[in-house]
Amino acid sequence: MKEKDILKINVSHYEGLDIREEANCILKITNYHLKYCDIRGQVIKEISLKDIINVGVINDKHLKEKNKSVIGRGIAGGLLFGSVGLVLGGLSGTGTKQIKEDVQYIVVNYNENNENKVISVYVNGAFSGASFVKKLNNIVNLSKEENKCPNCGKEYNISEFKCSNCGQMLKSGKKLKVIFGVVIGIVIFIVFIAIIGLSVSNGTPKEVNIIERIANVEKDQAITINDILKDIGIEEFKNMSADSENLDGFEGVGSKGYRIETSFSDNVILYLDSNNNVICVRYADKDYYRNGQVLNKFD
Ligand SMILES: [Zn+2]
Repeated sequence: MKEKDILKINVSHYEGLDIREEANCILKITNYHLKYCDIRGQVIKEISLKDIINVGVINDKHLKEKNKSVIGRGIAGGLLFGSVGLVLGGLSGTGTKQIKEDVQYIVVNYNENNENKVISVYVNGAFSGASFVKKLNNIVNLSKEENKCPNCGKEYNISEFKCSNCGQMLKSGKKLKVIFGVVIGIVIFIVFIAIIGLSVSNGTPKEVNIIERIANVEKDQAITINDILKDIGIEEFKNMSADSENLDGFEGVGSKGYRIETSFSDNVILYLDSNNNVICVRYADKDYYRNGQVLNKFD
């Protein structure tokens, strides 16, 4: 089974890797390993999923709620915190390491030559390292199960759906899919909502588009004109047409007239001056708007 990336997250180094503190790196989960890579993707440290003993996420805030002496000894909930725990527990011997605020430490305990080792990296800002750790835990647990084909006994990888030997359907690939199907589902959902949100917020009312096109004005002006129509009670209208032959010049030199087709009439008349400011809106020989004032309202 080919190795493939399942999930990755950008982190900064705290301790345990052979690189400087604060160096940016990428934490990757594959179907075989947990990998710490540099920003170009070069592997710095590779841990087999089967060698991972424990994974946790901590920050200064939720450590304060825990018993300091427990943390001070470096173990809480079975997790070895390394110097993250020592510093947070107030028992740092060296005094060289500082705990950063508003970061989340992703602490990994793993077995190397029968030693329990710790690597800690941190995620900046509000982003939740917790969800990454939760998924990592799920995958570590999956990889520790007895992954042998129930039919022929061949060992399989967590990302496999089917036994490569006998074709038996396997459950772990499905579980893995569930873990990430949810994530993909959420991402698709967010994108979907964002698209809807955009189309709503960028959606120009059709009336504004009509005014823009027929009166040949800028969008800002079209919005202003539409607002005036709304002020006199025309919340929406079907269409608008220029009638230069009959209406232009009627309200002074350079004035232009347009007929607006509403639900009740196709003869509401809008007059614009040569700068496309609204002179008046008239209907049945009555002014509804003139000189910046609402005089009557349609209801
Ligand atoms: Zn099989």
